[in-house]
Formats: sequence, structure tokens, C-alpha cells
Amino acid sequence: MPISNRTDRTIYEIGRMHIAMGLGSGLFIVWGIPLLASAMGLADGGALDWIVLPLLLIWVIAFGVRSLLIACPRCGKSIFMRGMWSVFWPAKTCSRCGLDLTTAALRK
Ligand SMILES: [Zn+2]
Repeated sequence: MPISNRTDRTIYEIGRMHIAMGLGSGLFIVWGIPLLASAMGLADGGALDWIVLPLLLIWVIAFGVRSLLIACPRCGKSIFMRGMWSVFWPAKTCSRCGLDLTTAALRK
């Protein structure tokens, strides 16, 4: 098998990016938006809940779906799953087939 293009990110790197972006955007929704709103004097009343809660719901769904899409290129198992558990950190080797995910690139 030819050595894959070196500019490609490995599955593990993509997984790490996904976690960093997910946590960053999650913190922004939970803390950043309320802070911004109170800075602008909009935090009074329950209006903020109507912004933060739907965003949080969208975030959870988007994050969960994306987590499932980042999967082992050989057997298709999500790299965030360890057996029955979903873990907040990508696996370095596939828990099902043992593929080294720090060198494997995402299948195109
Ligand atoms: Zn696998």
C-alpha cells in the first residue's frame, strides 16, 4: 500500500481537534453568551434561556453526530467509543480491530 499523503490529518488528530473545538464551543455557549449578554445588559428576565438552551441542544446533537462520524477507516467503529462507553478523548488504537489511529488517515 502506498504511503498516504503526508498533509492528511490522522484520525487521532482529527479526533483531538474535534474535542478541542467541541469543548471550546460548548464553553462559549454556557459561559461566553451569558457573559456577553450581561455585558450588554440583556441578561434580565428569562430571555437568555431561550438562546442558550436551544444552542446547547444543537451543540449536543452536532457534537454527538460528528463523534460518530470520526470512525476507524478499517472497521467503522467510532474512535470515541470504548466498548459500551463513550469517552471524551480519541483512542490511539481502534478498540475493535486494533488499527493504529495515530497513523491512519480518514478514508475519503
Ligand atoms: Zn477498527
